[in-house]
Amino acid sequence: MDLGIKGKRALVCASSKGLGLACARALAAEGVDLIMNARGAEALEASAEAIRKEFGVDVVTVACDVTSQDGQAALIEAAQGVDILVNNAGGPPPGMWTDWEREDFLAALEANMLTPIALMKALVPGMIDRGWGRVVNITSQSVKAPIAVLGLSNSARAGLTGYVAGTSRQVAPFGVNINNLLPGSHDTDRIAALDKGNAEKSGQSVEEARAARQATIPAGKDGNPRDFGATCAFMCSQYAAFMVGQNVLLDGGNINATL
Ligand code: NAP
Repeated sequence: MDLGIKGKRALVCASSKGLGLACARALAAEGVDLIMNARGAEALEASAEAIRKEFGVDVVTVACDVTSQDGQAALIEAAQGVDILVNNAGGPPPGMWTDWEREDFLAALEANMLTPIALMKALVPGMIDRGWGRVVNITSQSVKAPIAVLGLSNSARAGLTGYVAGTSRQVAPFGVNINNLLPGSHDTDRIAALDKGNAEKSGQSVEEARAARQATIPAGKDGNPRDFGATCAFMCSQYAAFMVGQNVLLDGGNINATL
């Protein structure tokens, strides 16, 4: 299926590894030129070079912290005129509700709510002027049902979700579609780190902790980042023109809900 976005340009934040990289690769496979970002320049350049070689698209890299003001300014400058924005950043650390202080919440809000809002505010007006745009915010299944140890994520991502619900309907008349993509457990470094933390706490091996977690997912396994990227590319496609302010959950059936 041709998604109809060949020749478009996309900024994909936090994209040297994991879900961000999978989104960048899926867009590149559709002929989309990319601006890729991560803090670590070496892994970022390696991923960008692999994409250039495999898909023949133009890839610009901006090595910076997307959650910092300087980083956002550098990204906005490099991304002038983009048609597609994929917002992503690292997730907040796990803990318990008794652990977190005001500063911890401010950092989580900065990374997982205010950063994507700042990038939308900077780049969506250009999309409106050109009459076409797509924004996908990578959030989490924690928006649908809270994860106890990820209270910082539960809180910050709920704030972003509320913002998108309102804003997406204000920009939809101009051909700009903003939606959220909610990962459940996917096979990335992030989930490996969470499994390691759980293993240390429970006295299990990492393999045992992973198997116990996966046994609670109806699909019986973690999601494949490749499939996540393909869903993201669809949400950035011509065919997503009627999708407005939606929260698309990819969780292997983990959230036990009718809607
Ligand atoms: P990951 O495998 O750890 O990859 C994170 C990527 O983001 C790396 O390229 C990393 O590169 C980059 N990054 C992290 N912080 C950054 C920052 N401040 N500025 C720029 N780049 C940054 O993580 P993932 O599993 O793909 O997760 C992506 C997002 O989805 C996270 O917010 C995570 O909480 C959420 N999520 C993931 C899962 C899952 O199962 N994987 C489930 C629910 C939600 P550098 O470190 O070099 O910057």
